[in-house]
Amino acid sequence: MQEIYDVVVIGSGASGMTASIYASRSGLSVALIEKGLYGGVLNKTETVENYTGMTTVRGEELAEKMEEHVRSQENIEHIYGDVLELHKNDDIFEISLKKQTILGKSVVIATGVKHKKMNIEGENVYEGTGISNCAMCDGMFFKGKEVVVVGGGDSAVESAEYLSNIVEKVTLIHRRDELRADKISQDRLFSKDNVEFIWNADVKMFGGNDKELSHIVYVENDTGKVLAVDGAFVNIGIVPNTEVFSKLGILDSEGFIITNSKMETKIDGLFAVGDVRRDSIRQVVSATGDGAIASQSVLEYLKERGDSIG
Ligand code: NAP
Repeated sequence: MQEIYDVVVIGSGASGMTASIYASRSGLSVALIEKGLYGGVLNKTETVENYTGMTTVRGEELAEKMEEHVRSQENIEHIYGDVLELHKNDDIFEISLKKQTILGKSVVIATGVKHKKMNIEGENVYEGTGISNCAMCDGMFFKGKEVVVVGGGDSAVESAEYLSNIVEKVTLIHRRDELRADKISQDRLFSKDNVEFIWNADVKMFGGNDKELSHIVYVENDTGKVLAVDGAFVNIGIVPNTEVFSKLGILDSEGFIITNSKMETKIDGLFAVGDVRRDSIRQVVSATGDGAIASQSVLEYLKERGDSIG
């Protein structure tokens, strides 16, 4: 007989790992499915300065510590794979991967988000040869060069600050005249000598030769302008990783998962945590909080069903 896990957690970012740890510590059998690195976006974050107890910690280091923690727990099966489908049949969830199907009495979706694209000319052409979404991953390729960062949120400001320590010059282009990022990060960026700002400007295209990016075209005050750049970092927001859940009726119009404060979706036994939730404030600390709440809700759900646990 194939094992039916008490809970299957899909995604091993901060929220998914925390849900798994709490569930395991409650005596539940857990399958944790991941297709990439443990820690999710933490691996693309230079430093975290707002996780309680850690004045400052490198994102990768925090991810490693969380992975160590989750791997030290009993009752957690670690499964590598990409979830292709999720069904509920007779109170049991079937999670289809390429080569196997995992069964669970309950499921916690913790699939996070990915970068939003600008969908403008040249973006697909120079992705990987000048355009990136991850300053931490690709910043070193532009050491001593000039780059542009597009966006005005926390990600754009973090990228610009990180890059300012590596590259010759950073130009941040934003479509409005004020940033939406955290005030402390904004102030730090404004104090940098090698960071310039172009406000109220829309980037219209990425241009270059047949090998690499060389310039961007933007419109400022109805005037088209060209800026020569070696690299461009696009940080204009996020889209949820929820394509495979689109037929379940649990998504909002932008694809984020709707939950209540107990992390319950409208399907019994199906929960969601972290950045993928519509109402998430998208912080590491709230992601871990979501994970703890979800494991408690899973426990209550299984007890209500009268299931034996473990
Ligand atoms: P975000 O907060 O949604 O900001 C996106 C930025 O890009 C906004 O400034 C937006 O402009 C701009 N933008 C959106 N679409 C655009 C387009 N088509 N062209 C040009 N500009 C465009 O996204 P994010 O910075 O990726 O952050 C996502 C979430 O993660 C947020 O909740 C954020 O607080 C959180 N986060 C937190 C931290 C941290 O706490 N350290 C770090 C990273 C991310 P407008 O301002 O005009 O809308």
